[in-house]
Amino acid sequence: MNLPEASNHSVQAIAKSLVPRIIPRAEHGISRKNISNGALRVLYRLHEAGFQAFLVGGAVRDLLLGGRPKDFDVATNATPEQTRTLFRNCRLIGRRFRLAHVVFGREIVEVATFRGIGEEGDGDRHVVDGRILRDNVYGGIEEDAIRRDFTINALYYDIADFSVRDYVGGIVDLQQRTLRLIGDPEQRYREDPVRMLRAARLSAKLDFAISAEAEAPIRTLAPLLANVAPARLFDESLKLFLSGHGLESLRCLHSLDLLGQICPATARALEGPNRERFGRLLGHSFMSTDERVQNDRPVTPAFLFSALLWEPVRSEAERLLGEGYEFANAWSVAVERILHQQATRIAIPKRFAMAMEEIWLLQPRFELRQRKRVMRLLAHPRFRAAYDFLVLRSHEEPELCEQVQWWTQAQGMNAHDLSESLAVPSPVRSDDAPATKRKRPRRRKRKSGSAAGGAETATQIPGE
Ligand code: ATP
Ligand code: MG
Repeated sequence: MNLPEASNHSVQAIAKSLVPRIIPRAEHGISRKNISNGALRVLYRLHEAGFQAFLVGGAVRDLLLGGRPKDFDVATNATPEQTRTLFRNCRLIGRRFRLAHVVFGREIVEVATFRGIGEEGDGDRHVVDGRILRDNVYGGIEEDAIRRDFTINALYYDIADFSVRDYVGGIVDLQQRTLRLIGDPEQRYREDPVRMLRAARLSAKLDFAISAEAEAPIRTLAPLLANVAPARLFDESLKLFLSGHGLESLRCLHSLDLLGQICPATARALEGPNRERFGRLLGHSFMSTDERVQNDRPVTPAFLFSALLWEPVRSEAERLLGEGYEFANAWSVAVERILHQQATRIAIPKRFAMAMEEIWLLQPRFELRQRKRVMRLLAHPRFRAAYDFLVLRSHEEPELCEQVQWWTQAQGMNAHDLSESLAVPSPVRSDDAPATKRKRPRRRKRKSGSAAGGAETATQIPGE
């Protein structure tokens, strides 16, 4: 279904006239066995208290696709306050969207009241330049359905009779493996530019095509992402990159010209002189992160962001060296600059940014083999992450294989033997490596006309 661009009043009228397609229990594959205990308890309790209660969103979509949802969202006509009175283990959160969280041990079930369609000024809605900044106008299920993003995310599983309700053609799109925005795509992206990132993410995660209408405005409207709060973009980037489909998400973002909006330096480096090597490094790091996520092994955003911004940092350091910066300064200034630029788009929390800084600044120190330096580096709290990063780089830079071998051996030796074997000084580079605990670097004036040269052709991330 494609709603025309319309005033809120006519959208309201459309919502009222929507007739759901109801798929009875016998005709769909959702079994209560596959719904979490917490979600079932919430659904039943709301229902017993006389409210409507539906499982909605990604959980219904994933269950219909035969997958295992990672979280369960509930939609109801109970207000957040009414929901709170039904559950002891419930807290109300959010200002932009007020929600109830019902907590069962490690599981949190999110309960949202049907969102309505009202004019600016109705109830608690705040819209600026077409962007919805706060939305606490409540309505019926039909209005709630057309406020959602994609048709496949607007399917409702009714706990009253175990049927699935489809108001916007989500079932057909699910069968056709298509992501179709509800309503006018341009208007929906303007309301919330993050929907463009969601299109890329869900297309990558589900291996669905983005409908031509939903894809068409993305390249033009991508710059609207500059208006989204960097903290929200950090959350979104974790979902994009650390949910087990990071590599495919990255490819999708790149091909829709969205990567430049959230990681501008990365997108530029993927068009720069080292684009092939960098593309392979990203391919490698994202693939291994995806594997770890899929095997339930821990992953850290610091490592992945270190990879995403590695070529920008490295080439900036090189450029500064060319300008006459002293070695250690060139690296620390480069790191500082790239992190600062990135922070204007994605607010990477301090603890991760600090880890990234250390991972990067330890890289040149792997070249130094004096006894004291080696022992100090091995004892560094970030040694392991930095070493893993060196291993990652060595896949793309074969000249680093000797270093990897050396440091692998060094780790396997006991401290005494290692120290003895390093007693004879080995040839080292004369410049000093950057210290990770930096004094404020002395800045030099930038020479004009020394910006890194970009190449015309865009890189392929492997497999693109
Ligand atoms: P995932 O399985 O990765 O969690 P999801 O679709 O469930 O995907 P959530 O962020 O959990 O994503 O959102 C839950 C539901 O809320 C969506 O399915 C969709 O119906 C609705 N939704 C989320 N974000 C938006 C948005 N920006 N605009 C409109 N509806 C949204
Ligand atoms: Mg979800």
